[in-house]
Amino acid sequence: MSTDTPAATPTVETHAFQADVQQVLQLVIHSLYSNKDIFLRELVSNASDACEKLRFEAIADPALMADDSELTIDLAVDADARTLTLRDNGIGMSHDELVQNLGTVAHSGTRRFLDSIAAGQKVDAQLIGQFGVGFYSAFIVADSIAVTSRRAGHDDAWIWRSTGDGQFSIEPASADTPRGTTLQLHIREDASDYLQAWKLRSLVRTYSDHVGFPIRMAKPAANEDAEAEAATELEVVNQASALWTRPKTELSDDDYKAFYKHVSHDFADPLAWTHNRVEGNQNFTSLLFLPEHAPFDFQHSRDERKGLKLYIKRIFIMDAAEQMLPAYLRFASGVIDSDDLPLNVSRELLQESKQVERIKGALTKRVLDMIEKIARDEPEKYTGFWNAFGATLKEGVAEDASNRERVLKLLRFPTTRSESAEQRVSLDDYIGRMAGLQEDIYYITAESWNAARNHPKLEALKARGIEVLLMHERIDDWMSGYLHEYEGKKLRNVAKGEIDLDKLGDAQDKAKQEETAKAAAPLVERIKAALGDKVKDVRVSNRLVDSAACLVVDEYDMSLQMQRLFQAAGQAAPASQPILEINPEHALLQRLQAAPDDDARTADYATLLFEQAMLAEGGHLDDPAAFIARMNRLLVG
Ligand code: ADP
Ligand code: MG
Repeated sequence: MSTDTPAATPTVETHAFQADVQQVLQLVIHSLYSNKDIFLRELVSNASDACEKLRFEAIADPALMADDSELTIDLAVDADARTLTLRDNGIGMSHDELVQNLGTVAHSGTRRFLDSIAAGQKVDAQLIGQFGVGFYSAFIVADSIAVTSRRAGHDDAWIWRSTGDGQFSIEPASADTPRGTTLQLHIREDASDYLQAWKLRSLVRTYSDHVGFPIRMAKPAANEDAEAEAATELEVVNQASALWTRPKTELSDDDYKAFYKHVSHDFADPLAWTHNRVEGNQNFTSLLFLPEHAPFDFQHSRDERKGLKLYIKRIFIMDAAEQMLPAYLRFASGVIDSDDLPLNVSRELLQESKQVERIKGALTKRVLDMIEKIARDEPEKYTGFWNAFGATLKEGVAEDASNRERVLKLLRFPTTRSESAEQRVSLDDYIGRMAGLQEDIYYITAESWNAARNHPKLEALKARGIEVLLMHERIDDWMSGYLHEYEGKKLRNVAKGEIDLDKLGDAQDKAKQEETAKAAAPLVERIKAALGDKVKDVRVSNRLVDSAACLVVDEYDMSLQMQRLFQAAGQAAPASQPILEINPEHALLQRLQAAPDDDARTADYATLLFEQAMLAEGGHLDDPAAFIARMNRLLVG
């Protein structure tokens, strides 16, 4: 650029929106068309974020706020000019931040939003809400937007303009632009409602009442004469105090619901909440919510947890879900406001702090209390909760040894008496139904509901009327490694070790069983010889009634299912060979027993038994083609 360019010609730069932004814009405008109101909430929430950011930065650099220390958000309309103006004196944006924040898909929320659409998610208001693609929602009601901003501590100010059609421009703003951001929306013809002050007032009260900064508007004129005068007089239209600092008695359910939507970006009402003030050697307030539905990307968010906002003495510090809530409760959201933590606390410091450890303990307890209450008082609601978050809660059995008993109490499983996978019982229900001499809690893990309920290993227990918990979710097998005892009762995996059916009142069978085993001993030896090192052992089963054979592992060996998960994840699993258990009463084994010792078909039969048992486990065959050939040989033969 030549140096003699007249200074009077302001330089207007034109930028194209990142391609993705264009896409987001179109989606937002179309899918939120019938939900226009939310634009105001989004913009107010951005203004509030900007005020919080400034207050936070001012802890280290008080000069940033010295020129104007009362943080406010002002709303004004000009019906003739068709403009709605929203101004905050928060952190503001520099030239580069305007380009970056309003022109690209920089933040992870929008990125994930796009990825999810690419993955075929249906776009609706609910979905968009979850990501906070907030700013662009202004284009639902505005055909052009001007954002004038000066970042705190900077001398230069800038104006960003766009009509939402593919590009935006940036030009310098006048030097007397105050700190913070002013949005001027030129309102579309079909959105004229938003030019009416009463409408805006009512939206602020409904959606933004809890915002911790005063939201001000011109006082309504009492009469025509007073109009001019009133136009300059501002009044605060929201509560303007952080909601969680207000006494519970002053707060209505609607207040909590609106606040929940603000912190969680959920469009639906929360399932439950708990609001507490703790005083003593730790002073803090917590307000925690449980959602009704899982956000659709919920399972991916284990490593990037958001939703618990840490405030220190009313100042927003950071998202601290990772430090203050265990991962298995990551569906909970809300705020924690501590009086004792230092304002300059860092993430690393939080990680090591004993104080934080104690707060985390207290919050964990609160969330569990809240879940227990629903489980106890509202079973139907609890079913909904369990459908959405049961699998997540199960992680707690492994993750939180100190609360394991409480988490176990909350678990629900279908059993051999359930008619569908959705018919579940608690461990307490199960214990209440235990009859006769049964002392232990029995369960089986399998890869699906059908594999679990039809599992051959259940046959003997079923025949004796013993109920078995059917664990068929992906996480169950892993979790079962941490299931040892509940209420003094042993939890026993039916697929592992030997089951002592004698204990279950079958003493009279014992002699018969021993006899059968003795008679089958030569057969067992033959099968063992045929299978070689495919198995650790072959033995007569006491679990089978209708099936010919099954595979089990020793009590302390890794389950077959777990070994498969390891292999699928490309990890070397400690290989433990299974044990083949046979049912000598079964016709197939009877035939094998009757065959001469040197029958060439023995090897085929034995291998087939092993392969069948493997398939019943949901396992994979090493050599499926050989299996088919073998089966056909026997079918033909
Ligand atoms: P989000 O609020 O979820 O980050 P938005 O689309 O609402 O997404 O806003 C995008 C970004 O623009 C914000 O993260 C923030 O950096 C910036 N921004 C928006 N409004 C303001 C404002 N009033 N003051 C300062 N920065 C703002
Ligand atoms: Mg926002």
